[in-house]
Amino acid sequence: MKIALVGIGKIARDQHVPALAASPDWELAATVSRSGTVDGVEAFTDFAAMLAARPDVGVISLCLPPQPRYPYAEAALLAGRHVMLEKPPGQTLAEVHALQALAAKQGVTLYATWHSRMAEAVAPAKAWLADKTIRRSQITWREDVRKWHPGQDWVFEPGGMGVFDPGINALSILTEILPAPVHVTAAELEFPANRDTPIAARIAFSGNISADFDWRQEGPQTWDSVVETDGGLLELKMGGNRLFIDGREVAGEDTIMGEYPKLYARMAELVRAGQSEVDLAPMVHVADALTLGKRVVTDAFHF
Ligand code: NAP
Repeated sequence: MKIALVGIGKIARDQHVPALAASPDWELAATVSRSGTVDGVEAFTDFAAMLAARPDVGVISLCLPPQPRYPYAEAALLAGRHVMLEKPPGQTLAEVHALQALAAKQGVTLYATWHSRMAEAVAPAKAWLADKTIRRSQITWREDVRKWHPGQDWVFEPGGMGVFDPGINALSILTEILPAPVHVTAAELEFPANRDTPIAARIAFSGNISADFDWRQEGPQTWDSVVETDGGLLELKMGGNRLFIDGREVAGEDTIMGEYPKLYARMAELVRAGQSEVDLAPMVHVADALTLGKRVVTDAFHF
């Protein structure tokens, strides 16, 4: 199937282009970006022009930041194309509800991806937790914003979600593996004095669950979740790629490179089956944390 990538930036280059190149399902047939291109692929700078010129491209994958993404998704669906959305699927929940309704009306696939759910150890963790009682859980998601979002001011602009941009990956795992849903009960958000979104967040959930997100950790990142249960201690490390039960490694691999190939395999399945997949549970937690969060002003941040 022919696919176009829109927004040729960091994640398109790091993950989408290699995943498509290695996939038997997909041919990268066009790109749309104001300056980015991919060698050997027809490049457009205007989305409407690409949709008009390439009716053979049936699937559009949007790798733009969330703020500009909605009009691209809407135009693609109106043009009868299937659409795959990077995480988070939009700036707001209502935007994504509107896209869901439009995709259903147009009879095309909408896939709101959560790459961390494709991490190697997430499915075995979910299976292990299925019959357990959760006593406590702690998520620690700390990384260096200068390494993962170098110079990307959009993360600190309204709609960019700040530290919830990586934090929502942890929440996509939490909402996938827990046997029963939880909800946010309180949050404390640290906003740099010169920015509009938080650089750190501490969140409390029902069920004795808490999360600590911080973008100021230098050196190696920490993307870990610990779940204490009536049947033992589960630890997910490396963003859901390695699983330990009672301290013993039982599943996983030492890389994050398997996630995007699985997303594209899932998109191929959804298109062939004529289905959509849109789960907004991780984004509901972010919206609730931003609604309930106590604002704490911290040092100004400059890249
Ligand atoms: P990025 O490099 O800052 O942006 C991607 C591209 O989108 C840019 O190169 C730019 O291409 C285009 N773009 C940016 N702002 C635009 C605007 N206002 N209007 C139209 N086009 C615009 O961002 P990214 O890091 O790839 O992240 C994109 C999405 O992927 C985000 O939702 C993010 O959460 C997700 N993601 C990122 C990472 C990561 O490691 N960074 C990991 C997983 C998922 P042109 O200038 O060529 O138009």
